[in-house]
Amino acid sequence: MTKNIRGYAAAAPDAQLAPFQFTRREPRPDDVLIEILYCGVCHSDLHQVRNDWGNTRYPVVPGHEIVGRVAAVGAAVKGFRPGDLVGVGCLVDSCGQCSSCAAGEEQYCLQGATATYNGTDRHDGLPTYGGYSERIVASEKFVVRIPAGLDPKTAAPLLCAGITSYSPLRHWKVGPGMKVAVVGLGGLGHMGLKFAKAMGAEVTLVTRSPGKEQEARRLGADHVLISADGQQMAAAAGRFDFILDTVPTRHDLNPYLSTLRLNGTLVLVGLIGPVDPPVHSAMLLLGRKAVAGSCIGGIAETQEMLDFCAAQGVTCDVEMIAMQDINAAYERLLKSDVRYRFVIDLASLKD
Ligand code: NAP
Ligand code: ZN
Repeated sequence: MTKNIRGYAAAAPDAQLAPFQFTRREPRPDDVLIEILYCGVCHSDLHQVRNDWGNTRYPVVPGHEIVGRVAAVGAAVKGFRPGDLVGVGCLVDSCGQCSSCAAGEEQYCLQGATATYNGTDRHDGLPTYGGYSERIVASEKFVVRIPAGLDPKTAAPLLCAGITSYSPLRHWKVGPGMKVAVVGLGGLGHMGLKFAKAMGAEVTLVTRSPGKEQEARRLGADHVLISADGQQMAAAAGRFDFILDTVPTRHDLNPYLSTLRLNGTLVLVGLIGPVDPPVHSAMLLLGRKAVAGSCIGGIAETQEMLDFCAAQGVTCDVEMIAMQDINAAYERLLKSDVRYRFVIDLASLKD
């Protein structure tokens, strides 16, 4: 079950993803073996494949929005049984000892959490491979339950796009009476709109794409601002308590900071490198404003988010694709031509 696993990998930054067979570790006593049904396509997969962050080790099998069924469990596994519908997100391990891990914030593990792909297994030193594949082996501590009532296809992107937008909204206590802006209507952005609305905030989409207005309202936006329209941006000065910025490339934060009100915070989730052009300190001083960042969420919070989605009827808007379509999907992602997350049906690997 763990040998000759079929998947798709990129062999170089400029290579197309192509079929790739590999071996996963034999399940340990605390491991769950999962037959993957669906895997979402995150913009981070594209960044990693193209080596945008300079740390990709090839071949890389991307995919960290994984939903599947438990096929087998190790002798020490308590929480899962064969047949359970489960998820694996961006992390498959962490030190378990540091203050971040003790706080249930494994994504901020002081020794570095183990990424689901392009990571290194802290026990055997082998590379980790992600969800663009038939099966995965993960410690039960990093496996979450997909609650009854969630469709496994639309639940897959919750494992990254969902938790990455949910966690900062919770941390900064978004709720009724607050004005929230979400910048960028892609995978993370569309979940940001839905969550902020479900939490009771007044929600604005800030987009560079004028054609997205109607869709944004359907997804939960009360207002839409076109970022390229200087007049609209100027009229929004001092408006927002909180901005969730999901733009995947380097961009000027200053126009967004001017739309924050007193004590407002802009949270970056895109790993965009140095902020360029620089943020002017007056932008922060005048209004006691903050620029912060946020990285996915811990495992307990990921389960909380899934349960929240089941209770509130929050789902992702997905476009299903076959594994063979992944290269075309990446090109569309680069053009922001996705409504709003591609999800791979892994049954296509058997075609
Ligand atoms: P996505 O689906 O491609 O959406 C990004 C959206 O940003 C686009 O739909 C577009 O929306 C806007 N955008 C794109 N290029 C832009 C540009 N040059 N200038 C201004 N706006 C632009 O990407 P995603 O999967 O949501 O991921 C967003 C970012 O978050 C990526 O960098 C990803 O790596 C990162 N990420 C971070 C974490 C974390 O833990 N922090 C987790 C997952 C992903 P409009 O057309 O509406 O403007
Ligand atoms: Zn992701």
